[in-house]
Amino acid sequence: MKTQPARDTSRKNHGPQTTAIHGGEPKRHGVNAPVGTPVTRTSTFTFSNTEEMKQWAEGKSKAYIYTRYGNPTLTVAEEKIAALEGAEAAVVTASGMAAISSALLGALKAEDELISTAQLYGGTYRLMRDVFPDMGIKVHHVEADLAGIEKLVTRKTKVLYVETPTNPTLRLVDLNKAIAFAKNHNLISIVDNTFATPVLQQPLSMGYDMVVHSATKYLGGHSDLIAGAAAGSKHWMDRVRHMVICLGGSMDPETAYLLIRGMKTLGLRVKKQGENAMTVAKFLEKHPKVERVHYPGLPSHADHALAERQMRGFGSMLAFDVKGGLDAARRFCDHVQLFLLAASLGGVESLVVLPIYTSHYNMSKEELRRAGVAPGTVRVSVGLEDADDLIADLEQALA
Ligand SMILES: *Cc1c(COP(=O)(O)O)cnc(C)c1O
Repeated sequence: MKTQPARDTSRKNHGPQTTAIHGGEPKRHGVNAPVGTPVTRTSTFTFSNTEEMKQWAEGKSKAYIYTRYGNPTLTVAEEKIAALEGAEAAVVTASGMAAISSALLGALKAEDELISTAQLYGGTYRLMRDVFPDMGIKVHHVEADLAGIEKLVTRKTKVLYVETPTNPTLRLVDLNKAIAFAKNHNLISIVDNTFATPVLQQPLSMGYDMVVHSATKYLGGHSDLIAGAAAGSKHWMDRVRHMVICLGGSMDPETAYLLIRGMKTLGLRVKKQGENAMTVAKFLEKHPKVERVHYPGLPSHADHALAERQMRGFGSMLAFDVKGGLDAARRFCDHVQLFLLAASLGGVESLVVLPIYTSHYNMSKEELRRAGVAPGTVRVSVGLEDADDLIADLEQALA
């Protein structure tokens, strides 16, 4: 019977960069084994007889049947992400939103209630604001410091959903506090781990049920794909896979290949981009035209101590407020040469963006104030370029 190839799922206690390279890959010490991951570009898979098909139908066989259900290239991506997150299993999806919607819909049904942090990725916020209420799912938002969260719980509360660090001001949610709350109230707990990556924090090891990712960002790392992932226990991943199969947000094998290739340098990229971000943050904090820098690696950041406790580094996302408000921020963004003016994040290229024209468009003054976004706030995704070149570009654009 054609079953999945032997895979190194032993979850050795390797460092993140070793895991990024070797985790989830098939055993390849025999003769003629490919070192690169083969792309299984097929929609469907053969069976040698009806008995094998019957076995599959009865759930007794691990055979692949059809790529929306699974595919050997997807399996490598899934096992690699599971290894990185320290999870029993993972599911890869066509986008981060496919992972988030499949994870949430796998956990929630009509009449259930959800508590989520208020500062969310825009797409997640819109899913909760525009789609869930029509499905009978009630959403409550809580600030990053979780103030007043006890008051939001009812007997219908089913899920706690947390994003940390937050976009764009890099506030942190205390993951220990949040999981204690979730356990206390028997809630299914989900963390969007996109900004931190498993290199900097592994919420599953703290007791969370699931993590979700926009693999478009750091996991892929090269701004050349759209992808998502969920990771957690086998129980939850079976549920998420069922949702992905039903809703259709499956990943394409070609994308899985690119994602695997990108992930092989994850540890290195996160480390170096974090160093670059620290250099950029320190430079900006001293610059006379900068009002304020939001970077958890700086002692001036409100959550610096929590970041030191909770994360293994501070990441490479930051934001800063330009003196002179929107006009000055626009002038800065219109004059960068090396930094690219583009949405998204987590790639090797450094990017700048104005939240009020992207993630926070169409928000009221009050919503902006709560999110900590000023008209002159610039969000920066610090890439892998040489730090001196980044500083020189910032210098000339601020001038
Ligand atoms: C980009 C992003 C998403 C959505 O992911 P897509 O791959 O664009 O669907 C979700 N959460 C966070 C934190 C993100 O940055």
